Amino acid sequence: MKKIRKNAGKGGQKFKRAIFRLSNYYAHLVSRRIVDYCREKGVKGIIAPKYAEVDGYLYGQGMECFLGKRIIRFLKYKAWKEGIILTTVSPYHTASQCCHCGAPIKRYNENHVPGVRYFGGRLFLCKNGHHGNVALNAAKNLGVLFQDSKSK
Ligand SMILES: [Zn+2]
Repeated sequence: MKKIRKNAGKGGQKFKRAIFRLSNYYAHLVSRRIVDYCREKGVKGIIAPKYAEVDGYLYGQGMECFLGKRIIRFLKYKAWKEGIILTTVSPYHTASQCCHCGAPIKRYNENHVPGVRYFGGRLFLCKNGHHGNVALNAAKNLGVLFQDSKSK
């Protein structure tokens, strides 16, 4: 029994290392693609969510965020080399508010009922009838936050 548990522990470590390597690989791949895209389109600046400052909040949790942080870190130095500036903005409420009117949004997927805690939903709907893609909504909110932080 002890032995089994020990081996399971080892397997867990191996698994963790595999995830670590894999996420490194994807972080490099994704950040490379973003920089390539920006160069192609002549983009000079990237705004990314500042994950570190919202630990404990919705953004600061889980594997996705872990990978997200790493992508941003790689992206920052890759972008810098290409002359693209990466700015980070604390993503408060970017995922939970409508980018058109600021009302709280409900998430949903096709043919599903929208819900506030429907975290897997790719689409959103606010009480004023705005709707669209959740990621695009968050990105637009980030852009607005960035402009606000500049004008202060
Ligand atoms: Zn709205």
